[in-house]
Amino acid sequence: MRYDIITLLPELLQGPLHHSIMQRAIDKGLVQVNIHNLREFGLGKNKQVDDYQYGGGAGMVMMCEPLFNCISELKSQRSYDQIIYMTPDGEQLTQSLSNRLSMGDNLLIICGHYKGIDERIRENIVDLEISIGSYVLSGGELPAAVLVDSITRLIPGVLSDETSALFDSFQDDLLAPPVYTRPADFNGWTVPEVLLSGHEQMIEDWRNEQSYERTKKRRPDLLK
Ligand code: SAH
Repeated sequence: MRYDIITLLPELLQGPLHHSIMQRAIDKGLVQVNIHNLREFGLGKNKQVDDYQYGGGAGMVMMCEPLFNCISELKSQRSYDQIIYMTPDGEQLTQSLSNRLSMGDNLLIICGHYKGIDERIRENIVDLEISIGSYVLSGGELPAAVLVDSITRLIPGVLSDETSALFDSFQDDLLAPPVYTRPADFNGWTVPEVLLSGHEQMIEDWRNEQSYERTKKRRPDLLK
């Protein structure tokens, strides 16, 4: 998978995308992350990328032209499965959306700032608009990092135990069961007996039951 991310703040993406599982996926050549600084496509000697909004009101809007030029240059080099704009009024990011996007080869992700990007880019160029939740952040970089991380873990070979993503929450519309590690008794807090039994079938049944009970209690909406 290749991700191209357009941003005004490349530094914000360095941290989240260059550690742990993400960095290992990059090292293994399973994913490539290319960050493009929109400022380089800014207009005039000040490299302007934003302007006042028509109709008045507080907050700047990211202009069409720099975005259009940056996206056109990228599109001339490869075709994208989806051109995505991170935005609070987009489709809510879910595990099933990440699953679907993980099947692709090339994703182009646009991070907004200020009041967001000119609506005409959204109408004419963007294929998919994604929100990471019903709250407003200052920029699209953290949302883009969340999206990239959630997709990357689903790419075969990225997780060392290939099956482990299958048992994560939401994978079957169920929350994950509780997990424990050594010691079996910590200050009198014990681990459920069944997990120490070595009986695979009983352990699996227990985990399924815990998943179901936890989902029923915390996220009954997932069971519908
Ligand atoms: N005026 C916009 C918010 C702009 S926030 C509105 O009210 O809808 C600035 C940028 O941060 C957005 O362009 C978007 O790229 C990003 N952003 C903020 N919150 C987000 C969220 N919940 N999900 C995805 N992107 C978000």
